[in-house]
Amino acid sequence: MFRKSKEIFSNKAKDIFSRIFFYTNLVIFLLIFLIPIGAFLLTGHKEYISPVHFVLVIVVGLLQIAATRYYKNILQQYWNKVKTSLIELAKRLNSVKTLTDIEEVRSAKKKLLEPLLEEGNFSNLANSLNVLVDNVLNIFESKLFKEELIRRLTTTLNVDRLSHILSNSLLKNFDIPAVAIYLKATNANEFELKINKGFGEIKPILDETFIQKIQAKDDVLIRESLDVSIDKGVCNLPIKEIYVHKLIPRSGKFIGVLMFGFERHDQLKEDKLREFLEEIEPTIALIFENALEHEKSLMLASLDPLTGVYNRREGFKLIKKLLSKAAVERTNICILILDIDHFKKINDTYGHEIGDLVLKEVVKIIRSSVRDRDLIIRWGGEEFLIVLNNVPPEKAKDVAERIRVKLENHEISIGNNITLKVTASIGVACTELDGIHSFDELFEIADKRVYKAKNSGRNQVVAD
Ligand code: GH3
Ligand code: MG
Ligand code: MG
Repeated sequence: MFRKSKEIFSNKAKDIFSRIFFYTNLVIFLLIFLIPIGAFLLTGHKEYISPVHFVLVIVVGLLQIAATRYYKNILQQYWNKVKTSLIELAKRLNSVKTLTDIEEVRSAKKKLLEPLLEEGNFSNLANSLNVLVDNVLNIFESKLFKEELIRRLTTTLNVDRLSHILSNSLLKNFDIPAVAIYLKATNANEFELKINKGFGEIKPILDETFIQKIQAKDDVLIRESLDVSIDKGVCNLPIKEIYVHKLIPRSGKFIGVLMFGFERHDQLKEDKLREFLEEIEPTIALIFENALEHEKSLMLASLDPLTGVYNRREGFKLIKKLLSKAAVERTNICILILDIDHFKKINDTYGHEIGDLVLKEVVKIIRSSVRDRDLIIRWGGEEFLIVLNNVPPEKAKDVAERIRVKLENHEISIGNNITLKVTASIGVACTELDGIHSFDELFEIADKRVYKAKNSGRNQVVAD
Protein backbone atom coordinates (compact mmCIF):
# COMPACT_ATOMS: atom_id res chain seq x y z
CA MET A 1 0.00 0.00 0.00
CA PHE A 2 2.75 2.35 1.05
CA ARG A 3 4.83 1.43 -2.01
CA LYS A 4 1.91 2.07 -4.27
CA SER A 5 1.14 5.54 -2.94
CA LYS A 6 4.82 6.44 -3.12
CA GLU A 7 4.89 5.36 -6.74
CA ILE A 8 1.84 7.40 -7.57
CA PHE A 9 3.35 10.41 -5.89
CA SER A 10 6.58 10.12 -7.86
CA ASN A 11 4.68 9.63 -11.10
CA LYS A 12 2.64 12.74 -10.46
CA ALA A 13 5.70 14.67 -9.37
CA LYS A 14 7.55 13.60 -12.50
CA ASP A 15 4.63 14.70 -14.58
CA ILE A 16 4.35 18.13 -12.93
CA PHE A 17 8.10 18.62 -12.93
CA SER A 18 8.43 17.80 -16.61
CA ARG A 19 5.63 20.20 -17.50
CA ILE A 20 7.11 23.09 -15.45
CA PHE A 21 10.56 22.38 -16.77
CA PHE A 22 9.38 22.26 -20.36
CA TYR A 23 7.45 25.51 -20.26
CA THR A 24 9.85 27.58 -18.14
CA ASN A 25 12.72 26.47 -20.32
CA LEU A 26 10.74 27.41 -23.39
CA VAL A 27 10.12 30.90 -21.97
CA ILE A 28 13.80 31.36 -21.05
CA PHE A 29 14.85 30.18 -24.50
CA LEU A 30 12.54 32.61 -26.19
CA LEU A 31 13.64 35.48 -23.94
CA ILE A 32 17.36 35.03 -24.45
CA PHE A 33 16.82 34.39 -28.12
CA LEU A 34 14.35 37.15 -28.84
CA ILE A 35 15.56 39.99 -26.57
CA PRO A 36 19.08 40.39 -28.09
CA ILE A 37 17.76 39.96 -31.64
CA GLY A 38 15.00 42.47 -30.91
CA ALA A 39 17.46 44.92 -29.39
CA PHE A 40 19.80 44.50 -32.39
CA LEU A 41 16.97 45.07 -34.86
CA LEU A 42 15.72 48.14 -33.00
CA THR A 43 19.04 49.82 -32.29
CA GLY A 44 21.33 48.35 -34.96
CA HIS A 45 24.01 47.70 -32.28
CA LYS A 46 25.82 44.48 -33.06
CA GLU A 47 27.04 44.18 -29.47
CA TYR A 48 23.64 42.88 -28.45
CA ILE A 49 24.42 39.63 -30.23
CA SER A 50 27.60 38.59 -28.52
CA PRO A 51 29.14 35.06 -28.61
CA VAL A 52 27.90 34.69 -25.00
CA HIS A 53 24.33 34.98 -26.27
CA PHE A 54 24.95 32.38 -28.89
CA VAL A 55 26.38 30.01 -26.31
CA LEU A 56 23.42 30.69 -24.01
CA VAL A 57 20.92 30.14 -26.82
CA ILE A 58 22.57 26.85 -27.72
CA VAL A 59 22.72 25.69 -24.07
CA VAL A 60 19.11 26.58 -23.36
CA GLY A 61 18.05 25.13 -26.74
CA LEU A 62 19.77 21.86 -25.91
CA LEU A 63 18.10 21.85 -22.49
CA GLN A 64 14.76 22.40 -24.25
CA ILE A 65 15.39 19.40 -26.51
CA ALA A 66 16.25 17.32 -23.41
CA ALA A 67 13.09 18.53 -21.63
CA THR A 68 10.93 17.65 -24.66
CA ARG A 69 12.47 14.19 -24.86
CA TYR A 70 11.98 13.67 -21.14
CA TYR A 71 8.38 14.77 -21.36
CA LYS A 72 7.81 12.57 -24.40
CA ASN A 73 9.40 9.71 -22.56
CA ILE A 74 6.95 10.05 -19.70
CA LEU A 75 4.06 10.18 -22.16
CA GLN A 76 5.42 7.11 -23.88
CA GLN A 77 5.55 5.27 -20.56
CA TYR A 78 1.92 6.18 -19.83
CA TRP A 79 0.87 5.18 -23.27
CA ASN A 80 2.66 1.84 -22.96
CA LYS A 81 0.75 1.17 -19.76
CA VAL A 82 -2.55 2.02 -21.49
CA LYS A 83 -1.64 -0.21 -24.42
CA THR A 84 -0.75 -3.17 -22.18
CA SER A 85 -3.94 -2.74 -20.18
CA LEU A 86 -6.03 -2.47 -23.35
CA ILE A 87 -4.49 -5.59 -24.87
CA GLU A 88 -4.91 -7.52 -21.62
CA LEU A 89 -8.53 -6.38 -21.23
CA ALA A 90 -9.38 -7.24 -24.83
CA LYS A 91 -7.83 -10.69 -24.36
CA ARG A 92 -9.88 -11.30 -21.22
CA LEU A 93 -13.08 -9.99 -22.76
CA ASN A 94 -12.54 -12.31 -25.68
CA SER A 95 -12.35 -15.35 -23.48
CA VAL A 96 -15.56 -14.66 -21.53
CA LYS A 97 -17.79 -17.72 -21.68
CA THR A 98 -19.58 -17.94 -18.34
CA LEU A 99 -20.89 -15.65 -15.62
CA THR A 100 -17.87 -16.52 -13.46
CA ASP A 101 -15.56 -15.31 -16.24
CA ILE A 102 -17.34 -11.95 -16.05
CA GLU A 103 -16.55 -11.63 -12.37
CA GLU A 104 -12.92 -12.42 -13.12
CA VAL A 105 -12.75 -9.76 -15.85
CA ARG A 106 -14.33 -7.25 -13.46
CA SER A 107 -11.63 -7.73 -10.85
CA ALA A 108 -8.88 -7.84 -13.50
CA LYS A 109 -10.23 -4.59 -14.97
CA LYS A 110 -10.04 -2.95 -11.57
CA LYS A 111 -6.41 -3.95 -11.19
CA LEU A 112 -5.49 -2.89 -14.73
CA LEU A 113 -7.28 0.43 -14.84
CA GLU A 114 -6.73 1.63 -11.29
CA PRO A 115 -3.15 2.88 -11.83
CA LEU A 116 -4.20 4.59 -15.07
CA LEU A 117 -7.17 6.27 -13.41
CA GLU A 118 -4.73 7.93 -11.04
CA GLU A 119 -2.37 9.18 -13.76
CA GLY A 120 -2.94 12.84 -14.52
CA ASN A 121 -2.44 12.57 -18.30
CA PHE A 122 -4.61 9.57 -18.95
CA SER A 123 -7.22 9.62 -16.24
CA ASN A 124 -9.88 10.87 -18.68
CA LEU A 125 -9.07 8.18 -21.18
CA ALA A 126 -8.94 5.57 -18.42
CA ASN A 127 -12.29 6.79 -17.14
CA SER A 128 -13.93 6.41 -20.53
CA LEU A 129 -12.30 3.02 -20.90
CA ASN A 130 -13.65 2.01 -17.51
CA VAL A 131 -17.21 3.01 -18.48
CA LEU A 132 -16.88 1.28 -21.85
CA VAL A 133 -15.65 -1.98 -20.34
CA ASP A 134 -18.39 -1.80 -17.68
CA ASN A 135 -21.03 -1.43 -20.38
CA VAL A 136 -19.61 -4.29 -22.41
CA LEU A 137 -19.49 -6.48 -19.29
CA ASN A 138 -23.08 -5.60 -18.41
CA ILE A 139 -24.26 -6.56 -21.88
CA PHE A 140 -22.26 -9.78 -21.70
CA GLU A 141 -23.60 -10.50 -18.25
CA SER A 142 -27.22 -10.01 -19.16
CA LYS A 143 -26.81 -12.16 -22.30
CA LEU A 144 -25.01 -14.94 -20.43
CA PHE A 145 -27.47 -14.79 -17.53
CA LYS A 146 -30.38 -15.28 -19.91
CA GLU A 147 -28.64 -18.11 -21.75
CA GLU A 148 -27.61 -19.86 -18.56
CA LEU A 149 -31.07 -19.48 -17.04
CA ILE A 150 -32.79 -20.92 -20.11
CA ARG A 151 -30.26 -23.75 -20.26
CA ARG A 152 -30.95 -24.60 -16.61
CA LEU A 153 -34.71 -24.26 -17.03
CA THR A 154 -34.64 -26.70 -19.92
CA THR A 155 -32.98 -29.43 -17.84
CA THR A 156 -36.22 -30.36 -16.07
CA LEU A 157 -39.95 -30.66 -16.57
CA ASN A 158 -40.66 -30.66 -12.87
CA VAL A 159 -42.66 -27.55 -11.95
CA ASP A 160 -41.30 -27.30 -8.39
CA ARG A 161 -37.73 -27.63 -9.61
CA LEU A 162 -38.34 -24.97 -12.29
CA SER A 163 -39.78 -22.60 -9.69
CA HIS A 164 -36.68 -23.09 -7.55
CA ILE A 165 -34.26 -22.43 -10.39
CA LEU A 166 -36.11 -19.35 -11.59
CA SER A 167 -36.65 -17.77 -8.17
CA ASN A 168 -33.05 -18.36 -7.08
CA SER A 169 -31.65 -16.87 -10.27
CA LEU A 170 -33.89 -13.83 -10.09
CA LEU A 171 -33.12 -13.18 -6.43
CA LYS A 172 -29.41 -13.39 -7.06
CA ASN A 173 -29.16 -11.58 -10.36
CA PHE A 174 -31.47 -8.68 -9.64
CA ASP A 175 -30.72 -8.37 -5.94
CA ILE A 176 -34.41 -8.41 -5.05
CA PRO A 177 -35.37 -9.26 -1.45
CA ALA A 178 -38.44 -11.35 -2.28
CA VAL A 179 -39.71 -13.51 -5.13
CA ALA A 180 -42.81 -15.69 -5.28
CA ILE A 181 -44.24 -17.84 -8.07
CA TYR A 182 -47.88 -18.74 -8.43
CA LEU A 183 -49.03 -21.25 -11.03
CA LYS A 184 -52.43 -22.45 -12.11
CA ALA A 185 -53.11 -25.69 -10.23
CA THR A 186 -53.20 -28.75 -12.48
CA ASN A 187 -56.67 -29.90 -11.57
CA ALA A 188 -58.24 -26.70 -10.33
CA ASN A 189 -58.87 -23.24 -11.61
CA GLU A 190 -57.07 -21.41 -8.86
CA PHE A 191 -53.46 -20.28 -8.50
CA GLU A 192 -51.19 -22.28 -6.27
CA LEU A 193 -48.19 -20.78 -4.47
CA LYS A 194 -45.25 -22.78 -5.79
CA ILE A 195 -42.46 -20.88 -4.14
CA ASN A 196 -42.13 -18.04 -1.66
CA LYS A 197 -38.70 -16.63 -0.99
CA GLY A 198 -38.48 -13.59 1.21
CA PHE A 199 -42.17 -12.66 1.44
CA GLY A 200 -43.98 -13.22 4.68
CA GLU A 201 -47.62 -14.24 4.59
CA ILE A 202 -48.54 -13.28 1.04
CA LYS A 203 -51.12 -15.89 0.25
CA PRO A 204 -54.13 -13.58 0.70
CA ILE A 205 -52.82 -11.27 -1.99
CA LEU A 206 -53.65 -13.57 -4.85
CA ASP A 207 -57.40 -13.60 -4.40
CA GLU A 208 -60.01 -13.28 -7.14
CA THR A 209 -60.15 -9.46 -7.03
CA PHE A 210 -56.38 -9.14 -7.23
CA ILE A 211 -56.23 -11.51 -10.18
CA GLN A 212 -58.96 -9.61 -12.00
CA LYS A 213 -57.14 -6.38 -11.31
CA ILE A 214 -53.83 -7.56 -12.74
CA GLN A 215 -55.52 -9.32 -15.62
CA ALA A 216 -57.01 -6.02 -16.72
CA LYS A 217 -53.59 -4.36 -16.94
CA ASP A 218 -51.34 -4.58 -19.96
CA ASP A 219 -47.94 -3.77 -18.49
CA VAL A 220 -45.13 -6.32 -18.28
CA LEU A 221 -44.55 -5.39 -14.65
CA ILE A 222 -47.52 -4.25 -12.63
CA ARG A 223 -46.59 -2.23 -9.57
CA GLU A 224 -48.65 -2.39 -6.38
CA SER A 225 -48.00 -0.71 -3.04
CA LEU A 226 -48.03 -3.07 -0.14
CA ASP A 227 -47.33 -3.22 3.54
CA VAL A 228 -46.47 -6.73 4.61
CA SER A 229 -43.42 -7.73 6.59
CA ILE A 230 -40.74 -9.73 4.98
CA ASP A 231 -39.46 -13.06 6.37
CA LYS A 232 -37.39 -12.35 9.46
CA GLY A 233 -34.75 -14.85 8.39
CA VAL A 234 -34.09 -13.07 5.14
CA CYS A 235 -34.47 -9.40 5.89
CA ASN A 236 -36.03 -7.22 8.55
CA LEU A 237 -37.13 -4.51 6.16
CA PRO A 238 -40.76 -4.31 5.19
CA ILE A 239 -41.77 -4.93 1.60
CA LYS A 240 -43.24 -1.68 0.40
CA GLU A 241 -43.96 -2.55 -3.17
CA ILE A 242 -44.72 -5.64 -5.15
CA TYR A 243 -44.32 -6.12 -8.84
CA VAL A 244 -46.40 -8.70 -10.62
CA HIS A 245 -45.54 -10.25 -13.93
CA LYS A 246 -48.17 -12.34 -15.69
CA LEU A 247 -47.01 -15.57 -17.28
CA ILE A 248 -48.93 -15.81 -20.52
CA PRO A 249 -47.45 -18.12 -23.17
CA ARG A 250 -48.29 -17.76 -26.84
CA SER A 251 -51.28 -20.04 -26.40
CA GLY A 252 -52.82 -17.09 -24.54
CA LYS A 253 -53.62 -19.02 -21.35
CA PHE A 254 -52.93 -17.15 -18.13
CA ILE A 255 -50.82 -19.79 -16.39
CA GLY A 256 -49.31 -17.95 -13.46
CA VAL A 257 -47.60 -14.92 -12.00
CA LEU A 258 -44.11 -14.02 -10.91
CA MET A 259 -44.18 -11.72 -7.91
CA PHE A 260 -41.29 -9.52 -6.83
CA GLY A 261 -41.03 -7.64 -3.53
CA PHE A 262 -39.05 -4.42 -3.11
CA GLU A 263 -38.14 -2.63 0.11
CA ARG A 264 -38.38 0.73 -1.57
CA HIS A 265 -38.94 2.08 -5.03
CA ASP A 266 -35.84 1.44 -7.12
CA GLN A 267 -36.22 2.66 -10.68
CA LEU A 268 -32.93 1.16 -11.80
CA LYS A 269 -33.80 -2.33 -10.60
CA GLU A 270 -37.32 -1.96 -11.97
CA ASP A 271 -35.99 -1.04 -15.42
CA LYS A 272 -33.47 -3.87 -15.39
CA LEU A 273 -36.15 -6.38 -14.42
CA ARG A 274 -38.62 -5.01 -16.93
CA GLU A 275 -36.11 -5.22 -19.75
CA PHE A 276 -35.17 -8.75 -18.77
CA LEU A 277 -38.80 -9.90 -18.58
CA GLU A 278 -39.74 -8.24 -21.84
CA GLU A 279 -37.07 -10.22 -23.61
CA ILE A 280 -37.29 -13.57 -21.86
CA GLU A 281 -40.97 -13.76 -20.94
CA PRO A 282 -42.19 -15.84 -23.93
CA THR A 283 -39.53 -18.46 -23.27
CA ILE A 284 -40.14 -18.69 -19.52
CA ALA A 285 -43.90 -18.84 -20.01
CA LEU A 286 -43.50 -21.58 -22.62
CA ILE A 287 -41.19 -23.62 -20.37
CA PHE A 288 -43.67 -23.40 -17.48
CA GLU A 289 -46.60 -24.21 -19.73
CA ASN A 290 -44.83 -27.34 -21.00
CA ALA A 291 -43.97 -28.41 -17.47
CA LEU A 292 -47.55 -27.89 -16.29
CA GLU A 293 -48.85 -29.91 -19.24
CA HIS A 294 -46.33 -32.62 -18.49
CA GLU A 295 -47.36 -32.69 -14.84
CA LYS A 296 -50.98 -32.91 -15.87
CA SER A 297 -50.35 -35.80 -18.24
CA LEU A 298 -48.31 -37.60 -15.57
CA MET A 299 -51.15 -37.15 -13.14
CA LEU A 300 -53.72 -38.33 -15.65
CA ALA A 301 -51.57 -41.37 -16.41
CA SER A 302 -51.52 -42.30 -12.74
CA LEU A 303 -55.24 -41.89 -12.09
CA ASP A 304 -58.23 -44.01 -12.94
CA PRO A 305 -60.25 -41.90 -15.40
CA LEU A 306 -63.66 -43.02 -14.08
CA THR A 307 -63.23 -42.52 -10.34
CA GLY A 308 -60.19 -40.22 -10.10
CA VAL A 309 -58.37 -42.46 -7.59
CA TYR A 310 -54.96 -44.00 -8.32
CA ASN A 311 -54.89 -46.70 -10.95
CA ARG A 312 -53.35 -50.09 -10.24
CA ARG A 313 -49.96 -49.33 -11.83
CA GLU A 314 -49.38 -46.09 -9.88
CA GLY A 315 -50.96 -47.53 -6.72
CA PHE A 316 -48.62 -50.49 -6.80
CA LYS A 317 -45.58 -48.17 -7.03
CA LEU A 318 -46.84 -46.03 -4.14
CA ILE A 319 -47.56 -49.02 -1.87
CA LYS A 320 -44.11 -50.46 -2.49
CA LYS A 321 -42.56 -47.13 -1.51
CA LEU A 322 -44.71 -46.87 1.63
CA LEU A 323 -43.86 -50.42 2.66
CA SER A 324 -40.11 -49.95 2.39
CA LYS A 325 -40.34 -46.70 4.33
CA ALA A 326 -42.48 -48.35 7.00
CA ALA A 327 -40.01 -51.25 7.28
CA VAL A 328 -37.18 -48.79 7.99
CA GLU A 329 -39.19 -46.60 10.34
CA ARG A 330 -40.89 -49.62 11.94
CA THR A 331 -44.34 -48.18 11.46
CA ASN A 332 -47.53 -50.06 10.71
CA ILE A 333 -49.31 -50.17 7.38
CA CYS A 334 -52.74 -51.68 6.87
CA ILE A 335 -54.38 -52.50 3.58
CA LEU A 336 -58.11 -52.84 3.08
CA ILE A 337 -59.43 -54.71 0.05
CA LEU A 338 -62.97 -53.61 -0.65
CA ASP A 339 -65.04 -55.59 -3.13
CA ILE A 340 -68.57 -54.45 -3.98
CA ASP A 341 -71.12 -57.15 -3.35
CA HIS A 342 -73.11 -58.49 -6.30
CA PHE A 343 -71.96 -55.69 -8.53
CA LYS A 344 -72.59 -57.72 -11.63
CA LYS A 345 -76.28 -57.69 -10.77
CA ILE A 346 -76.30 -53.86 -10.79
CA ASN A 347 -74.82 -53.86 -14.27
CA ASP A 348 -77.22 -56.52 -15.42
CA THR A 349 -80.27 -54.79 -13.95
CA TYR A 350 -79.58 -51.09 -14.57
CA GLY A 351 -76.93 -51.12 -17.25
CA HIS A 352 -73.24 -50.37 -17.36
CA GLU A 353 -73.65 -46.61 -17.01
CA ILE A 354 -75.46 -46.96 -13.71
CA GLY A 355 -72.73 -49.44 -12.72
CA ASP A 356 -70.19 -46.67 -13.40
CA LEU A 357 -72.19 -44.20 -11.34
CA VAL A 358 -72.25 -46.66 -8.42
CA LEU A 359 -68.46 -47.04 -8.64
CA LYS A 360 -68.07 -43.25 -8.38
CA GLU A 361 -70.43 -43.10 -5.41
CA VAL A 362 -68.52 -45.87 -3.63
CA VAL A 363 -65.30 -43.88 -4.10
CA LYS A 364 -66.98 -40.80 -2.62
CA ILE A 365 -67.88 -42.79 0.49
CA ILE A 366 -64.36 -44.18 0.80
CA ARG A 367 -62.82 -40.71 0.37
CA SER A 368 -65.04 -39.27 3.08
CA SER A 369 -63.93 -42.00 5.50
CA VAL A 370 -60.15 -41.79 5.21
CA ARG A 371 -57.46 -39.13 5.64
CA ASP A 372 -55.98 -37.26 2.69
CA ARG A 373 -52.67 -39.03 3.07
CA ASP A 374 -54.22 -42.51 2.84
CA LEU A 375 -54.12 -44.08 -0.60
CA ILE A 376 -57.19 -45.17 -2.52
CA ILE A 377 -56.49 -47.38 -5.51
CA ARG A 378 -58.83 -48.92 -8.04
CA TRP A 379 -57.31 -52.36 -8.13
CA GLY A 380 -59.74 -54.00 -10.49
CA GLY A 381 -63.29 -53.52 -11.86
CA GLU A 382 -65.20 -53.15 -8.60
CA GLU A 383 -62.36 -53.83 -6.24
CA PHE A 384 -60.56 -51.07 -4.34
CA LEU A 385 -57.45 -51.06 -2.23
CA ILE A 386 -57.20 -48.61 0.65
CA VAL A 387 -53.80 -48.18 2.24
CA LEU A 388 -53.68 -46.70 5.73
CA ASN A 389 -50.26 -45.46 6.67
CA ASN A 390 -49.02 -45.41 10.26
CA VAL A 391 -52.23 -46.47 12.02
CA PRO A 392 -52.73 -49.07 14.75
CA PRO A 393 -54.42 -52.26 13.43
CA GLU A 394 -57.57 -51.73 15.58
CA LYS A 395 -57.99 -48.31 13.97
CA ALA A 396 -57.78 -49.86 10.51
CA LYS A 397 -60.57 -52.25 11.38
CA ASP A 398 -62.66 -49.28 12.62
CA VAL A 399 -62.07 -47.41 9.36
CA ALA A 400 -63.14 -50.48 7.38
CA GLU A 401 -66.25 -50.83 9.48
CA ARG A 402 -67.06 -47.14 9.06
CA ILE A 403 -66.84 -47.44 5.28
CA ARG A 404 -68.98 -50.57 5.30
CA VAL A 405 -71.71 -48.93 7.42
CA LYS A 406 -71.69 -45.68 5.45
CA LEU A 407 -72.02 -47.60 2.22
CA GLU A 408 -74.80 -49.79 3.50
CA ASN A 409 -76.78 -46.69 4.50
CA HIS A 410 -76.00 -44.59 1.46
CA GLU A 411 -78.79 -44.17 -1.02
CA ILE A 412 -77.58 -43.77 -4.56
CA SER A 413 -79.95 -41.82 -6.73
CA ILE A 414 -79.94 -43.13 -10.30
CA GLY A 415 -82.63 -40.85 -11.76
CA ASN A 416 -86.38 -41.25 -12.28
CA ASN A 417 -86.72 -41.11 -8.49
CA ILE A 418 -85.03 -44.47 -8.21
CA THR A 419 -82.43 -45.03 -5.51
CA LEU A 420 -80.36 -48.08 -4.81
CA LYS A 421 -77.99 -49.25 -2.14
CA VAL A 422 -74.86 -51.33 -2.37
CA THR A 423 -72.80 -53.16 0.19
CA ALA A 424 -69.20 -54.29 0.19
CA SER A 425 -67.04 -56.98 1.75
CA ILE A 426 -63.74 -55.79 3.20
CA GLY A 427 -60.61 -57.74 4.11
CA VAL A 428 -58.01 -56.06 6.34
CA ALA A 429 -54.33 -57.00 6.75
CA CYS A 430 -51.64 -55.13 8.68
CA THR A 431 -47.85 -55.40 8.60
CA GLU A 432 -47.55 -55.15 12.38
CA LEU A 433 -50.32 -57.54 13.30
CA ASP A 434 -49.56 -60.10 10.64
CA GLY A 435 -45.77 -59.67 10.98
CA ILE A 436 -45.06 -59.17 7.30
CA HIS A 437 -43.60 -56.52 5.08
CA SER A 438 -43.93 -57.88 1.58
CA PHE A 439 -46.82 -56.57 -0.45
CA ASP A 440 -47.60 -59.94 -2.02
CA GLU A 441 -48.02 -61.60 1.37
CA LEU A 442 -50.02 -58.70 2.74
CA PHE A 443 -52.29 -58.70 -0.29
CA GLU A 444 -52.79 -62.46 -0.13
CA ILE A 445 -53.90 -62.28 3.51
CA ALA A 446 -56.30 -59.38 2.87
CA ASP A 447 -57.65 -61.15 -0.22
CA LYS A 448 -58.30 -64.33 1.73
CA ARG A 449 -60.19 -62.24 4.28
CA VAL A 450 -62.38 -60.70 1.56
CA TYR A 451 -63.11 -64.21 0.35
CA LYS A 452 -63.98 -65.20 3.91
CA ALA A 453 -66.30 -62.16 4.20
CA LYS A 454 -67.99 -63.10 0.91
CA ASN A 455 -68.44 -66.68 2.08
CA SER A 456 -69.81 -65.57 5.43
CA GLY A 457 -72.71 -63.69 3.85
CA ARG A 458 -71.00 -60.50 2.39
CA ASN A 459 -71.41 -56.91 3.75
CA GLN A 460 -68.86 -57.45 6.48
CA VAL A 461 -65.29 -56.69 7.54
CA VAL A 462 -62.84 -59.51 8.23
CA ALA A 463 -59.61 -58.47 9.92
CA ASP A 464 -58.26 -61.73 11.32
P1 GH3 B 1 -69.29 -60.59 -5.57
O1 GH3 B 1 -70.27 -60.16 -4.55
O2 GH3 B 1 -68.95 -62.03 -5.42
O3 GH3 B 1 -68.13 -59.75 -5.62
O4 GH3 B 1 -70.05 -60.51 -6.98
P2 GH3 B 1 -69.80 -59.43 -8.09
O5 GH3 B 1 -70.94 -59.49 -9.03
O6 GH3 B 1 -69.54 -58.11 -7.50
O7 GH3 B 1 -68.45 -59.92 -8.74
P3 GH3 B 1 -68.08 -60.35 -10.19
O8 GH3 B 1 -66.59 -60.50 -10.20
O9 GH3 B 1 -68.90 -61.55 -10.59
O10 GH3 B 1 -68.49 -59.19 -11.10
C1 GH3 B 1 -67.80 -57.96 -11.20
C2 GH3 B 1 -68.48 -57.16 -12.26
O11 GH3 B 1 -67.97 -55.84 -12.31
C3 GH3 B 1 -68.27 -57.72 -13.63
C4 GH3 B 1 -67.96 -56.53 -14.51
O12 GH3 B 1 -68.79 -56.45 -15.62
C5 GH3 B 1 -68.20 -55.39 -13.64
N1 GH3 B 1 -67.28 -54.29 -13.94
C6 GH3 B 1 -65.93 -54.29 -13.95
N2 GH3 B 1 -65.45 -53.08 -14.26
C7 GH3 B 1 -66.52 -52.31 -14.48
C8 GH3 B 1 -66.67 -50.93 -14.85
O13 GH3 B 1 -65.70 -50.16 -15.06
N3 GH3 B 1 -67.92 -50.43 -14.98
C9 GH3 B 1 -69.01 -51.22 -14.77
N4 GH3 B 1 -70.19 -50.66 -14.89
N5 GH3 B 1 -68.88 -52.50 -14.43
C10 GH3 B 1 -67.69 -53.07 -14.28
MG1 MG C 1 -64.54 -58.62 -7.58
MG1 MG D 1 -67.76 -57.87 -6.32
